[in-house]
Amino acid sequence: MYQWSFVSSVAVALAMLAGCGETRPATPAIPPPATVNGKATLSDDEWRARLTPLAYAVLREKQTELAFTGRYDKHYEPGVYRCAGCNNVLFSSKHKFDSRTGWPSFTEPAASESIYTHSTDREAVLCARCDGHLGHVFPDGPPPGGLRYCINSAALRFEAAN
Ligand code: FE
Repeated sequence: MYQWSFVSSVAVALAMLAGCGETRPATPAIPPPATVNGKATLSDDEWRARLTPLAYAVLREKQTELAFTGRYDKHYEPGVYRCAGCNNVLFSSKHKFDSRTGWPSFTEPAASESIYTHSTDREAVLCARCDGHLGHVFPDGPPPGGLRYCINSAALRFEAAN
């Protein structure tokens, strides 16, 4: 019994060590919601049931994750970043750069029709399929475009290139 609990403790410790570097669990993959005219139209209760509390806070309540805490801030594997709410392909690793701001940053979306922006006090970036709040776009990005799409990791789910 003692030996078994010792082995279990070591296994848990190793699992925790292996998890270092990933400050947030990956957003679970979910089936895309049904769409009407290209728009996902779920009720607030349905969104709450589909999303993790953090993803719900960002996507549906327009909150911002703490800087340097997101899973994809320092993530540079080749692949695409899908919307954590509806699976829409939003950004590509080809356009990701290290802005040193603490949030995943892209120079442009994967496709212009993937997102849209809405100007309030800042230029908000939203998913074109589910209207989920993704982050903001600022005019201080690298040339030639000069834009920085500052996106919450919690709004994204990475899919590695094959
Ligand atoms: Fe979406």
